[in-house]
Amino acid sequence: MSKAKMVKIGILGGAGRMGQMIAREILSGRYKAKIAAVVEHKKSWAIGKDIGVILGLDPAGVTVTTDKEEAFDVSDVLIDFTTPKATLEHAELSFRHGKPLVVGTTGLTSAEMAAIKTAAKKAPMLQAANMSVGVNLLQAMVEHMATMLDDEYDIEIFEAHHRHKVDAPSGTAYALGVAAARGRGVKLEDAIMPARFGAIGARPKGAIGFSVFRGGDVVGDHTVTFAGDGERIELSHKASDRSLFARGALKAALWLAHQKPGFYAMKDVLGL
Ligand code: NAD
Repeated sequence: MSKAKMVKIGILGGAGRMGQMIAREILSGRYKAKIAAVVEHKKSWAIGKDIGVILGLDPAGVTVTTDKEEAFDVSDVLIDFTTPKATLEHAELSFRHGKPLVVGTTGLTSAEMAAIKTAAKKAPMLQAANMSVGVNLLQAMVEHMATMLDDEYDIEIFEAHHRHKVDAPSGTAYALGVAAARGRGVKLEDAIMPARFGAIGARPKGAIGFSVFRGGDVVGDHTVTFAGDGERIELSHKASDRSLFARGALKAALWLAHQKPGFYAMKDVLGL
């Protein structure tokens, strides 16, 4: 595909919070991209409506449909911000159509991740729990810090999100936990300590603890603390605008459209 060509993007879950933000970014005209298709759940209120009109803009000439086969046919690359169940279906469609897919959906099980990795044999696939540049940098820094500090330093991961978020801890918090565990040379499954309540006893040495806040309109805060004797080191990221993730997803999609089949991460897009 010529790099100068407009990249045709299919938005899966296009009437959702993130889907609408991605559509708005593309319609801003700041990208070499156009909307090829917008797909929604069959029970969505948005079916049959023009995506521009949904956003309060001029009609964009693209109607929200349920036709996924058509969307995969007409798009150069697709972006998925839906639910884990829908992502599984979308990964299978990517496999069959050989079309690149950016997956932003979080809370994926190992079966859903496996479907994405299988699709990567036939199509370029990118999955990221967080599409922001800052969080991906934070991840790299946490891993580095964990290689330098031994288990005399307790690792605690805190995350805060808005009241609508349905999974916990956030995919980003989990990814930060994986980075910390990798740096420390352990598996997160062996060290993870989820939210605490009641008389649970003292903190096990080497545990990687998680705590979660839900409320209001918090876009996404993440802090990784290394707590030693007499000092605490905190690495933090605070997102203040969800369009940050939409811009990251578009950057990923425009990059992925030119890649060979394979499984990619945001660090590949950002060259970290
Ligand atoms: P949302 O509920 O507002 O939107 C999801 C949309 O997907 C809805 O419109 C829904 O109708 C649609 N959908 C559900 N099932 C579908 C199906 N089978 N086929 C097609 N469409 C379907 O949610 P949201 O806030 O936009 O978040 C979506 C996902 O993205 C969540 O998992 C969230 O955690 C994640 N997220 C990731 C990032 C990131 O940077 N990776 C950032 C923000 C949100």
